[in-house]
Amino acid sequence: MMPLIQASYFAAAILFILGLKAMSSPVTARRGIQWAGAGMLLATLVTFATPGMQSFALMILAMALGGGLAGYLGRVVKMTDMPQMVAIYNGMGGGAAAAIAALEFSRGHVQGFTVTLLAVLGALIGSVAFSGSCVAFAKLQGIMKKAHRLPAQNAVNLVLALAVLGLAVKLVAGPFPLGRDLALFFVLSLVLGVVLTSPIGGADMPVVISLLNAFTGLAVGFEGYVLGNPALVIAGIVVGASGTLLTQLMAKAMNRPIANVIFTPISGAAQAGEAPIGTMKEASAMDAAAMMRFAQKVIIVPGYGMAVAGAQHKVWEMARLLQEAGIEVKFAIHPVAGRMPGHMNVLLAEAGVPYELIFDLEEINGEFATADVALVIGANDVVNPAARTDKSSPLYGMPILNVDQAQNVIVNKRGKGAGYSGIENTLFYGENTRLLYGSAQQAIAGVIAEIKTLAG
Ligand code: NDP
Repeated sequence: MMPLIQASYFAAAILFILGLKAMSSPVTARRGIQWAGAGMLLATLVTFATPGMQSFALMILAMALGGGLAGYLGRVVKMTDMPQMVAIYNGMGGGAAAAIAALEFSRGHVQGFTVTLLAVLGALIGSVAFSGSCVAFAKLQGIMKKAHRLPAQNAVNLVLALAVLGLAVKLVAGPFPLGRDLALFFVLSLVLGVVLTSPIGGADMPVVISLLNAFTGLAVGFEGYVLGNPALVIAGIVVGASGTLLTQLMAKAMNRPIANVIFTPISGAAQAGEAPIGTMKEASAMDAAAMMRFAQKVIIVPGYGMAVAGAQHKVWEMARLLQEAGIEVKFAIHPVAGRMPGHMNVLLAEAGVPYELIFDLEEINGEFATADVALVIGANDVVNPAARTDKSSPLYGMPILNVDQAQNVIVNKRGKGAGYSGIENTLFYGENTRLLYGSAQQAIAGVIAEIKTLAG
């Protein structure tokens, strides 16, 4: 029986890896989710057949509660609320890893140096990921408003971290880690997660969630070793590695070193850089429609505003009208447009935009100079030329979409609101830029109506 069980866990792990591979492209992502889900189902079923398993009723109850709640939330949660949903799911993973460690310790199952070391590390990282993710969720959900910074924040972090590490060493070295030290270790690890995450403001939060996700993977991998479960070990390592890569990618795309995110957070309201020169010039829906209808090439740049307005369907309707008139239309996606990686890709895919019309920053940036019109819909920071030209701007060095190089730029936004970084955008004052004011859905509906009149 045991070889069959191990082989099934191994098969589940392979399904996780294949699923993750398929998720790397929008074309195969749906299949990837299904494979990973099948792997999870297999691993769960095999767990029931594993020798020594008890309390089947409790297991089924836990699965029904967790699965039911996740299924419900998966259906009702809005796309713009996805980051906090990821945060809370991630926290559950970290908490589960820490709970496994606590249980294994209390049952006296943690024996030998390596197992004890990994159990303690998994408990520490899992606890930090759990409480940190809860704080991240609370902030993104608006339950916890501001970045809470203690007077000597870095010193407090250091003292706490040293205390937790000291206890961890004691637990690993001690004869049998139980009792007060173990309880204190868990409490301080949870507090560490809270104090590390509390000072971090909204702008950096998704990077932190990705980092905590990598932590959760590590914790799960370590506890998988403690339990002797290969599926948990492999799944944990895969999550840890992919979470680390994603964190690096996001930090690079936002031009924020990871250490800065954690130790010197900005709260998303920084005001810096050179004051823009010139004035903002308005365009009516008719102006925008005419500019695009008589163009040869239009590049559309969606951003967070399109997500908030849920305007992706209207945008695709407008793009099809232009295509029908023989105009070349492309979509340009910045890696951190919106509020989570892949945010714009998901929305455009949902609206039915074909994948071959969607281009990443490196693929499309050279093409703006040949575009007659760049239409920016609710994007701001990801098209701010100050990132290229203004050394005093906090955005300096961040790769941006070069929309300012297009012949004409139309920017749709509601008013004079700043982007996520809080920094002024010199693009809006450009000679070739016109502002199309209004919430994206209504504004684009207006443009569609005008294009139709031009076509007639
Ligand atoms: P921004 O947040 O920079 O700008 C969004 C713009 O949309 C605002 O200027 C706002 O202006 C406008 N807007 C808001 N609501 C509407 C609406 N209903 N209709 C039309 N426009 C609207 O978005 P970007 O996508 O350009 O940049 C993303 C930012 O988020 C970057 O700073 C990035 O670093 C950050 N970030 C991204 C992450 C990711 O993984 N994607 C993770 C963490 C942070 P107005 O109020 O005038 O309408």
